[in-house]
Amino acid sequence: MANQENSEIAESSSFGYLSTSLAAAVLVALALAFCAPLCLAQEMSQERGPAPRLASDSHTDSHIAEALQQVSADHIRQTIEKLVSFQNRSTISAQDKESIKAGKGIGAAREWIKAEFERYAKECGGCLEVKTDTFTEQPGDRISKPTEITNVYAVLRGTDPQQANRIVLVTGHYDSRNSDTFNGTDPAPGANDDGSGTAVSLECARVLSKAFPGKTSSGKAGFPATIVFLTVAGEEQGLDGSKHFAQMAKQQGWKLEAVLNNDIVGGNLSPGQDASVVRVFSEGLPAAASEAEIKRVRMLGGESDSSSRELARYIADVGRSYHAGVKPLLIFRLDRFLRGGDHYAFNQQGFAAVRFTEFREDFNHQHQNVRTENGIEYGDLPKFVDFDYVAHVARLNAAALASLAWAPAPPASVKMLINNLENDTTLTWEPSAGAAAYEVVWRSTTAADWEYAQTISSGTRATLKVSKDNEIFAVRAVDAAGHRSLPVVPEPEK
Ligand SMILES: [Zn+2]
Repeated sequence: MANQENSEIAESSSFGYLSTSLAAAVLVALALAFCAPLCLAQEMSQERGPAPRLASDSHTDSHIAEALQQVSADHIRQTIEKLVSFQNRSTISAQDKESIKAGKGIGAAREWIKAEFERYAKECGGCLEVKTDTFTEQPGDRISKPTEITNVYAVLRGTDPQQANRIVLVTGHYDSRNSDTFNGTDPAPGANDDGSGTAVSLECARVLSKAFPGKTSSGKAGFPATIVFLTVAGEEQGLDGSKHFAQMAKQQGWKLEAVLNNDIVGGNLSPGQDASVVRVFSEGLPAAASEAEIKRVRMLGGESDSSSRELARYIADVGRSYHAGVKPLLIFRLDRFLRGGDHYAFNQQGFAAVRFTEFREDFNHQHQNVRTENGIEYGDLPKFVDFDYVAHVARLNAAALASLAWAPAPPASVKMLINNLENDTTLTWEPSAGAAAYEVVWRSTTAADWEYAQTISSGTRATLKVSKDNEIFAVRAVDAAGHRSLPVVPEPEK
């Protein structure tokens, strides 16, 4: 474009074409004589294409930033206190009509969560579909008799017919426990574990549905892709609710691109807590990797490039772009040492899923009977929860969900061409719905996060003067407003 404009200006000038050429020749001669090193550098940079920029540059959508302000620590406190009021939310606690009426047990908690989602749905002009996923869990290590388990969720349907089948999901478990896994009656407040995560899912539903209800009478904007706000039960019994839900998603062929699991995000108020960060755990080698995929990792590396890890890096990017009040601290490990959580049930079905957890857990305040012993208070009570911190984590989640649901689809069939031995790197991919451009991102093999980015403004192929031997690459799609998709690491192709 620039060259064309220059030639047009030259042709229309009064000097005419010949005099322009002469002037150009003189300029070239002068340049060669006086600035050979500079010109050589310019020539090289032209050959290399546009200079890469840092991949860590932030992109902030003012609509998302504005919506985040609606996240309320006070509302989150009300949610957590309400959940605690059900006394014991163990999966094996009461769920008969009488107990529900009395406001005791997991059945009452389930009905309240459902009513709460329905209230948000009403407030956004019916933009949320409220659903339940009920099944019977058979007896196992932590369940003595067949037990009905219900996951409760709300769906904010995407508004772009081409992208509405893309789904991003936030979850927390609403079941709780005390010192005894088989105790369904004594207090098991579960304010932090996992009233906090349940409150994050509910708060994201409330705020995002209100700000971006989509196709309703309000005419307000909606996300192109779909967001699911989930609350599960059976976590403490062995991730039962999530296993069932993830299997359902797999069987029904959901295009589930990201799962954000919030479990123990209460910012427990005890010495040593760091309220400025929230840990984000992600698996390295995928639980669902095939033997062929593991073989490729052995050959080519990629131990730190599971789709869950790319999701974690995406959340780091969101953390740089929005002022959530808390920064994601990426932990390159499936979960805390030898412990598990609901995201793993999704990983097992091949979905990208990460876990958010406060920086420092206090084990006196989780999975404990409420009591005082030797002056130490035990029990997962609301008074140990930092509601501002939970609100910060909810903001980070909401920003990630909104960014993902507004971004184009991640590029499909991303390939690295390896026909010839060469130092350049050529990548190809298929067009993404909603994309206005693409970015190739890369980092050195020893770097934790993407270091450089280069915009590819047209086409679905890029050749970079960067060696595939020394760097790790990925491609992400970008829409006209700058929303970025999850990056996709290429597969080698001959
Ligand atoms: Zn938990």
